[in-house]
Amino acid sequence: MTDKLVILPGDGIGPEIVAEAAKVVGWLKDNADFDIEIEHDLIGGQAYDEYGEPLADSTLEKCRSAKAILMGSVGGPKWDGVEYNKRPEAGLLRIRKELNLFANLRPALVFDALVDASSLKPEIVKGLDILIVRELTGGVYFGEPRGIEDLGNGERRGYNTQVYTTSEIKRIGAVAFDLARKRSNKVTSCEKCNVMESGMLWREDITALHASAYDDVSLEHMLADNCAMQLLRNPSQFDVIVTDNLFGDILSDEAAMLTGSLGMLPSASLSEPGQPGLYEPVHGSAPDIAGQNKANPLATILSLSMALRYSFERGDLADMVEAAVKDVLDSGKRTGDIMSEGCTEVSCSEMGEAVCSALESVQAEKAA
Ligand code: NAD
Repeated sequence: MTDKLVILPGDGIGPEIVAEAAKVVGWLKDNADFDIEIEHDLIGGQAYDEYGEPLADSTLEKCRSAKAILMGSVGGPKWDGVEYNKRPEAGLLRIRKELNLFANLRPALVFDALVDASSLKPEIVKGLDILIVRELTGGVYFGEPRGIEDLGNGERRGYNTQVYTTSEIKRIGAVAFDLARKRSNKVTSCEKCNVMESGMLWREDITALHASAYDDVSLEHMLADNCAMQLLRNPSQFDVIVTDNLFGDILSDEAAMLTGSLGMLPSASLSEPGQPGLYEPVHGSAPDIAGQNKANPLATILSLSMALRYSFERGDLADMVEAAVKDVLDSGKRTGDIMSEGCTEVSCSEMGEAVCSALESVQAEKAA
């Protein structure tokens, strides 16, 4: 059976950026022995308009039978008034939950050509290559009880529950250790064990997992607030950072900013081995530039590259796509968001075409 990729463009700039990643898929199919079936469907506001749901059951079924799903982004002012459980973002939460996407991988990679885009000094971020592994389906965002209650005296009380079990902690820990083995073999595990029992359990369980199955990987524990500081002070000390849903949300956004541009940041959300993975740029639907052919498609193209590496097991093709992106940046082509003096501004579609042309050269160099 042929492997399947489901493409869900979504809202705002989603269709524009995903179209460029689809060009890269087309190039790989035509030129690089990459035989996959592609299906398209809707998610987010577009799906709400068409199906009355931000993620239809039929779309979900298509995704379940795929190796990977490539998504653009969801949301926009058009759907601001839609009821809470039908808003575009609810489609994203549903797909993560239904596909049991418990591991969110967010690389923070600084391309040499973009080193000046970071707000940190070039010598601090040059060559930076960090991978944040965030637990995505547990913790305070899902814990019960939760709610807002009326205390009857003019006061209200809002509450959420931070909760993790040993199996949830070990499952995400194993993902981080396995990935570290393919990188620089170091994991930093972050929690707040000084003030939270769930953090104490997290530290104990990661320590036990390390001792039982991963003692060849270097493990360091760090309080999440210290990690936030160290990311700015000396980010190169990190290889893989593993952390819970809440701290991961914040630390991965902080690490993202070390690279300077939202338009460059890919992500992967993975389940158990063999199950479909979801690949999407970190940024949103950018309604302010939607429909103008101005968006940077590289975060989506790099998300596709993660799909090649983690779901299709084609690390060779992922390396080619990443080399092509590097070559395009080295040649000075930039979309507006990463534009700098002396470079050439290109549109979203021109950037996608430039990556496909660069793939020709990367392949020729490989063959030589
Ligand atoms: P955003 O990421 O869409 O945009 C923030 C800023 O970055 C904007 O100025 C935008 O033009 C720019 N930007 C983002 N991606 C870009 C790209 N590829 N190329 C060039 N510039 C880019 O965040 P926002 O404005 O806070 O949110 C807009 C909508 O997106 C909201 O409805 C929000 O809920 C949704 N959103 C969706 C996701 C997702 O689908 N995973 C993530 C975040 C926000």
